[in-house]
Amino acid sequence: MMNAPTTTEQLKNATAAVGKQVPGILSQPGTRSVAVIGAGITGVTAAYALAKRGLQVTVFDRHRYPAMETSFANGGQLSASNAEVWNHPSNIVKGVKWMFSADAPLLFNMTPSWHKYSWIAEFMLAMRSYKENTVRSAEISIMARKNLLAWAEAEGIDFNHEKRGILHVYRTEKATVHARKVNSLLDRAGLDRREITPDEARQLEPTLHGDFQGAFYTPSDSTGDIHKFTVGLAAAAQKLGVRFEQDVDVRKLTAGNGIAVRYARDGAETTERFDQIVVAAGVGSRALGAQLGDRVNVYPVKGYSITVQLPDEAAQTAAPWMSFVDDDAKIVTSRLGADRFRVAGTAEFNGFNRDIRADRIRPLVEWCHKLFPNMPTEHVVPWAGLRPMMPDMMPHLKRGKAPGVHYHCGHGHLGWTMSAGTAELVAENVMQEVLA
Ligand SMILES: Cc1cc2nc3c(=O)[nH]c(=O)nc-3n(C[C@H](O)[C@H](O)[C@H](O)COP(=O)(O)OP(=O)(O)OC[C@H]3O[C@@H](n4cnc5c(N)ncnc54)[C@H](O)[C@@H]3O)c2cc1C
Repeated sequence: MMNAPTTTEQLKNATAAVGKQVPGILSQPGTRSVAVIGAGITGVTAAYALAKRGLQVTVFDRHRYPAMETSFANGGQLSASNAEVWNHPSNIVKGVKWMFSADAPLLFNMTPSWHKYSWIAEFMLAMRSYKENTVRSAEISIMARKNLLAWAEAEGIDFNHEKRGILHVYRTEKATVHARKVNSLLDRAGLDRREITPDEARQLEPTLHGDFQGAFYTPSDSTGDIHKFTVGLAAAAQKLGVRFEQDVDVRKLTAGNGIAVRYARDGAETTERFDQIVVAAGVGSRALGAQLGDRVNVYPVKGYSITVQLPDEAAQTAAPWMSFVDDDAKIVTSRLGADRFRVAGTAEFNGFNRDIRADRIRPLVEWCHKLFPNMPTEHVVPWAGLRPMMPDMMPHLKRGKAPGVHYHCGHGHLGWTMSAGTAELVAENVMQEVLA
């Protein structure tokens, strides 16, 4: 597979190219057609970036509306400060301990599966690239945040955006020392994540309770509702001429003289041909990639969220406005407007199982009771989603073996943060092929 442009310089160039139409492409009768599989955040950002470049884009998704799977109710954080990849020996040690604790943030189903165990083996190997991948991940996130905010402003998308920064809190000295090391990597990427005292953290968020040993604050990070944004951007893409084929199941992709997409609606199958394709199918990307002759080792890592409803003034005052990463509990939070507070966490290795388990939801509610004891949790909406995760935790932005095939998937725990940046990289890659 050929690599997408992935240096920071290339990312900057791609970003600068947004909105610049390629002369003649839009107006030519034979405009190049691109199929995008998936209408989550990766598919919709890719469609928008491609349409901006004058390509004729069709998005396919099996749901009736955009953003109904993993891009529905995630942690809400646009967090370059959370760019540390998970391939660190300390996480392996913690992971093994957590496997024997019922309410731990990690759940690992031991049932043998080639997909799962080959993924774990590659995850271990990727520890070699821990530092460079963390820096790279932060660089992409910083660029992506800018794009996302520019698009939201240009298209008038209201997504409960809160620009208050993100607070990381740590319960032990050991975790704080590790966080300082992470800071030196984030610093290399140009991120301002500064260490503050636990007292200063409490001043930033007066509703916070609990004993902490360390805290870090990233003023440039922010939060917002991924579902609202994705739906808003899909509407903007539609205005640019993108066609959305919702409620269809993509059954077969065939490369050769363009790409044939066979899809079914209400059981009736149709095949359409396109010049190029972008596979942005979240956890479905591995199976679709295999049809095109590519190995895309995305594994579904389940996570859970609760959305605490804040119906009255008392509840709204007791809930935090500041966004948190509690690294020990592996929990992230965001305030989505006055009346909603989102708490998300857990990494569950259990295949494509999408069940919402009460025993995984309970720790999220109890976490709220401990840190924000005055916030009522009578009305809590639970949710589970599958993070499309590559073993090295880096998004898969490569070209496929066959001409015309591109990937925009595998964004793992940072898909909301990164997609508006990586979509530009993939769109540039598609354009390079068009113009070659
Ligand atoms: C609990 C949790 C908390 C998270 N918190 C954050 C956070 O705070 N910040 C952050 O940056 N990221 C976060 N993430 C990660 C982020 O939500 C994901 O990376 C992102 O939503 C993935 O988007 P996607 O487009 O790849 O996948 P999806 O949103 O799942 O979209 C893929 C789409 O492809 C479609 N599809 C697949 N196969 C087919 C087919 N054969 N035919 C038709 N359609 C198909 C599906 O229907 C789906 O709509 C979190 C994730 C979880 C689970």
